[in-house]
Formats: sequence, C-alpha cells, structure tokens
Amino acid sequence: MLPDVRRKPASVKVHVSSGAGVDITWSDGHASHYDFAYLRDECPCAMCSDERQKKQDLAQRTAPGSGFTPLPMFKPKPSARAAHAVGNYALQIDFNDGHAMGIYSFDYLRTICPCEACAREYRASPEQTSH
Ligand SMILES: [Zn+2]
Ligand SMILES: [Zn+2]
Repeated sequence: MLPDVRRKPASVKVHVSSGAGVDITWSDGHASHYDFAYLRDECPCAMCSDERQKKQDLAQRTAPGSGFTPLPMFKPKPSARAAHAVGNYALQIDFNDGHAMGIYSFDYLRTICPCEACAREYRASPEQTSH
C-alpha cells in the first residue's frame, strides 16, 4: 500500500498557552483545527474509548421517550497544560483535568478532523443500523 500523504503533517502548531488548540497543515495542503475540548472528547486511550462506548450504550438505552434523563455533570472546559511530540508520528497532550494518556497519532488526527470534507472522507458511517 502506498503511504497516504494526506495523513502526514507538513506543519503542526500546538497553542498550549493561548488555549487555542491544535493547528495542523497536512502534506496535501489541507488545514485542520482542533479545540482541546474536542481532542479531549476524542482521546484515543483505552480508558476513554471505553467511556465513550458506555455513553453510547447508555444513550441507546435512554432513547427519548424512555423517561430517563441522565443528570448533566459539571466539567471544567478542557484545555491543555502541555503537549509533546511522540517520535514523528504522534502528539501526546497533557490535559488540565490531569489526563495525559492520549497519544494522538497523525493518522488518527486526520481521521477526526472536524471539517465536513474529512467527515465524509474518513468517517462516513457504514449504514446506520437501528434496532
Ligand atoms: Zn484518554
Ligand atoms: Zn478536514
């Protein structure tokens, strides 16, 4: 398989002190911007994917009309305390809630690019199955 240049960053800027998030320009010229809050939500570590899975299950079980409303939880707005490069393939972000286990590979980052074009390209869900 040929290496996918679209998943290789040409420039990476992490705005830790301003809290503005992460800007990546990819080898194909595409530019992505990620808020720290968004990245925190999409943290790829095992713990967070587990958490997301549970929330999804809960959301399915508590469909509108079931009469159950989960209490909203107070959470401070996520931001980053620090960010480090991991080799030349990933970013590690140290969040202000103390969580620093997420290693965001550039491959993954391109996949979760919040823009519409990437959503279509990388996250087109293979037919929603509803039961
Ligand atoms: Zn995590
Ligand atoms: Zn994009």
